[in-house]
Amino acid sequence: MKTIADLGDLRGRRVLVRSDLNVPLDDAGAITDDGRVRASVPTLQELSSQGARVIVCAHLGRPKGKPDQKYSLQPVATRLAELLGQPVAFATDTVGESARAAVGALEDGQVLLLENLRFNAGETAPTAEERREFAEQLAGLADAFVSDGFGVVHREQASVFDIARLLPAAAGGLVRTEVEVMKRLTEDPARPYAVVLGGAKVSDKLGVIDNLLAKADRLLIGGGMVFTFLRAQGHEVGRSLLEEDQVEAVRGYLRTAEETGVEIVLPTDIVAATEFSAEADHDVVPADEIPPDRLGLDIGPDSARLFAEKLADARTVFWNGPMGAFEMEPYAAGTRAVARALVDITAAHDALTVVGGGDSAAAVRQFGHSDDEFGHISTGGGASLEFLEGATLPGLEVLED
Ligand code: ADP
Ligand code: MG
Repeated sequence: MKTIADLGDLRGRRVLVRSDLNVPLDDAGAITDDGRVRASVPTLQELSSQGARVIVCAHLGRPKGKPDQKYSLQPVATRLAELLGQPVAFATDTVGESARAAVGALEDGQVLLLENLRFNAGETAPTAEERREFAEQLAGLADAFVSDGFGVVHREQASVFDIARLLPAAAGGLVRTEVEVMKRLTEDPARPYAVVLGGAKVSDKLGVIDNLLAKADRLLIGGGMVFTFLRAQGHEVGRSLLEEDQVEAVRGYLRTAEETGVEIVLPTDIVAATEFSAEADHDVVPADEIPPDRLGLDIGPDSARLFAEKLADARTVFWNGPMGAFEMEPYAAGTRAVARALVDITAAHDALTVVGGGDSAAAVRQFGHSDDEFGHISTGGGASLEFLEGATLPGLEVLED
């Protein structure tokens, strides 16, 4: 993979950097977790200190291919300037007049952020043909390209993939670090190797289980995914999240696990609520006795203990997806217990603990943990899962020499 050093002397050159600044915002538009902005800073500092004219581009949320102020990157520019300790100019469009003028005004070492890439339909269009014009316009702004948004390298998009063929291109430090960690997880991980999966993007994540069964020693399942497993075992799950069309596949995973000696750890108890709300009535029930009118919103206390036990001797852990609807305190305990277990084994025997997924990372910070209590907090949920799955990631492949 080509690195920034391969780009040669950058003084006075315009360098377009694709960062991942896709941060969660609250209803008032304030950033609730700036982890991805912080993770983007070192590469930008490196380029700026080399005298490059740094043009940062990124997306925020899912605007529908046209400007939508709700998804403006303006508040991120403000935060980025604070973290960088230097001004960050902001262009109110991506490749239009504002962007061209701002690029023209950049001096060596200065930093500019373009408006949300997804305000332009070309960014995420499905074919290279439809993305070409936008990619060419982006390329027209710069002399070189640095890919540093690990969270998007699994996407074949204009600012991730096509652009790297139009300009001299290299991987930034964040992408390199993330890839190194993912390699440690896939090539000869220290054992026991446990994978904890949860969260709400159930169908996405069920797909990786196949591949993980061949690699991990233990698979702990929590979050919304649990109910498809419980269903596959023949239990009722009430109104919980359920992927009916995946039940058969999950039965297959359970069989494979048994044949290959991989331990699948499922919760024994569930916090079941009347509504998806912090104020709803909720009780701990056995996992195989979820009442028909309730929905499971967290793993129960016995399960939290069981999960902590199953993680205690692990030497490698990959965790993606909260164990419950942790944003609401009554359903946070399971996620808190897994976070604690990872912190403990990192401290106790220097286990390699990796947290992937935007919400999982936000959860550990919400619980007051600092990033360095874990082996690595990945900025990319989907990208890290696809890497583990053994998929070819277009945004990485295009950076190979
Ligand atoms: P990540 O961003 O870490 O990859 P996901 O985006 O897949 O994780 O899922 C995170 C969301 O899953 C959280 O907002 C959380 O509230 C939700 N969640 C977890 N468990 C449940 C559950 N049992 N029912 C509904 N939502 C859940
Ligand atoms: Mg998420």
